[in-house]
Order: sequence, then C-alpha cells, then structure tokens
Amino acid sequence: MIRQETILYKLFLIKFSDMELLEQMQPDYKLCPTCGSLGCCKPHDEYKRYMITIHKGKRVEYEIYILRVFCDSCESTHALISDVLIPYGSYTLRFILHVLRAYFNRNCTVEILCERFGIAVSTFYDWKKLFKEHANLWLSALNKIYRVSIQEIDDFENIDKLPFSFFKRYGFSFLQRRKATNCNRSPWSRIFYSVFHIIAKWLLFSFKSILITS
Ligand SMILES: [Zn+2]
Repeated sequence: MIRQETILYKLFLIKFSDMELLEQMQPDYKLCPTCGSLGCCKPHDEYKRYMITIHKGKRVEYEIYILRVFCDSCESTHALISDVLIPYGSYTLRFILHVLRAYFNRNCTVEILCERFGIAVSTFYDWKKLFKEHANLWLSALNKIYRVSIQEIDDFENIDKLPFSFFKRYGFSFLQRRKATNCNRSPWSRIFYSVFHIIAKWLLFSFKSILITS
C-alpha cells in the first residue's frame, strides 16, 4: 500500500467533499515501499471498492476505483490509498469522525443515531474505542485521554495531515482496524530486501544459464 498524502484537516469545515478530494488526487508512486527503489513502480491495474462518506450531513455511498502499481525491481504490487480513505474498510475518516461527533450532540438513543447513519451499534462502540486507543498512541503519556469527548474529536480533526503523519509514524492508519504488515519497512530492512532480491535474481539467472549450456 502507498498512502497518498491529501490536505486533510478541518474536516467539518473543508469545502471539498471526500469524492472531490479523491478526484483531485495526483497519484504519487515514485518510491516503492517494499524495496525502496525509485521510479520502478508502474500502473498495473485497478480494483473496485465502496466508499461510505458524509455529504451535507447525510450518509452517501460511492463506487470508486483504486489504482494498483507494480514494482519492476521487487515485483510487488501496491494499492494507492488516499488519506481520505481508511485502509481495509469502506468508511472514510470524515464519516467516522462525523458519527462520533454526532454522538456527543445527540438528543436520541445510540440505537437511533446508528440507524440514522446505517451502522451497527457494535460498530459505533468499536470506533469509539479505536479513537481512544489511536489518540493515546499519538499523544504523549502526559496528555493521555481517559474519556473521549467532543473536544478530542475536534482536536484530532484539526491536526494537519493527521492520516499521513500517523501512517508514517506507526505503519498503519488512524482508525484502521487491521494493522498493515509490510507497508512501512525500515530503511535497513529495505536494503536487506533489495540485496536479497538481487542475489535471488542472480542465482536464478545462473541456474538458467547452466541449464542452457549443459
Ligand atoms: Zn519494489
């Protein structure tokens, strides 16, 4: 996965919708996150997924296409995921933060709130828990939060480039349920991987040459 940095903050005030932000995205795949090669990734294919977001206070769903690139150097493929999206899920960051905020401003039960946004009650509580966990990961021990409130949601929604910075620091995305496995390799592991890949290619080439000449 290659995260695509998007100017994403003040989500409750920004005039661009998630769909418009996606359309404005300039694909950037200069660096392969697996082997660290520069300029070796090429557009390969695309796949369909659903995006569930908020537009004018209401839940909206879109069918979107995610570009996948192929690295000629290490032969790995990577999906280009905009900061608007949360990997391995359909709900956008804006949608989740909007629902969490609505929870604190509600004058109805959690069940009615969840029904309004078309989500399960358990999903809502998962998000609330995840928000606290990831917020505390981001904050220092001194600023740790013990209870999520509207203030924390507003504070996080105002952090400039939060999704990109969070991913860069931890190797998985803010409010992402499943942790990524290999998208943020350290420089040393990239070097090791590149050397290993070159040796493997050389051995394969030598083996083929021996077979041809014998
Ligand atoms: Zn590569």
